[in-house]
Amino acid sequence: MSKPAPLYNRLALIGVGLIGSSIARAARAQGAVGSIVATARSETTRKRVAELGLADQVVETAAAAVAGADLVIVCIPVGACGPVAADIGPHLMPGATVSDVGSVKGSVVRDMAPHLPKTVHFVPAHPVAGTEYSGPDAGFAELFVNRWCILTPPEGQDPAAVEKLAAFWRLIGANVETMAPDHHDLVLAVTSHLPHLIAYTIVGTADELESVTRSEVLKFSAGGFRDFTRIAASDPTMWRDVFLANKDAVLEMLGRFNEDVAALTKAIRRGDGDALFEHFTRTRAIRKGIVQIGQDSPAPDFGRPHPDLPHEPMPKPYAADGD
Ligand code: NAP
Repeated sequence: MSKPAPLYNRLALIGVGLIGSSIARAARAQGAVGSIVATARSETTRKRVAELGLADQVVETAAAAVAGADLVIVCIPVGACGPVAADIGPHLMPGATVSDVGSVKGSVVRDMAPHLPKTVHFVPAHPVAGTEYSGPDAGFAELFVNRWCILTPPEGQDPAAVEKLAAFWRLIGANVETMAPDHHDLVLAVTSHLPHLIAYTIVGTADELESVTRSEVLKFSAGGFRDFTRIAASDPTMWRDVFLANKDAVLEMLGRFNEDVAALTKAIRRGDGDALFEHFTRTRAIRKGIVQIGQDSPAPDFGRPHPDLPHEPMPKPYAADGD
């Protein structure tokens, strides 16, 4: 079956790690863009992007990448988005759409918007899909299939430009939802950022134990610890930036979490089996709800086969929503 005309003529990718390279692969596979120009901070990554053939053109600077591009997607840690927006601002094509993929939206809007000319459409985005792997080799075309991509356009953006970016994400497999940046940050604080913080904490705690040896921790990890270690293997730069950028929402959720831990601590100390049973019954229902809406597996598109997308080798073991 022939593919429809590309949605955008020229996609500029700034940063080609896990997310940027997955966008490149998926956009190519779906014919979503006419051509792709890519850049990355380091010579090593730029060289690797060229070797992998992820873009039609690899250039040295972000300013050179955006020239003539009608879609620009910034795929770098959120703490670096402001300076990159300052670099590209003067070189953007009038009418272009500028987006990103950062895991925090309030800070991205705050840091990028002042540097962007009024002649471009600014539509920040967050694909809620990822793995604990990084770099251009880690990406794959199916990463976004049946995952959510949340768009957070600042007020006053052209609805047609927002809809066109939504169509782009749908074409590469995602479901799209739009929400205010601050609301996004609150939702993700509880669904993603707090779980990562807990994983980072518990793996650190186990590492520092003196009465349990490291080999025992590794040997008996299937008892629950193993799942935390995957999350705690996520990229340190990305997650440092997430916690710095989403400080208020994370602290709010952490406060509530600490209260709940205190309540469970009390129940255990008092031997209050009813309280523990009631709590665990309630949480079990949440898991059932996730399974019911089909958000149950960490495999790309939850393991479902996808004849429309190229069958590239998947990173193994299947990693999950790193984000
Ligand atoms: P990644 O694989 O580590 O790639 C990061 C890219 O950003 C690389 O091209 C890197 O360039 C570049 N970069 C790093 N620091 C930079 C700086 N200070 N200035 C300019 N470029 C810089 O990361 P990723 O997983 O693709 O994450 C990219 C973005 O996606 C982040 O904002 C993250 O919050 C968001 N996100 C991640 C996930 C996930 O699960 N990983 C999911 C959804 C959204 P070099 O290679 O040359 O160093």
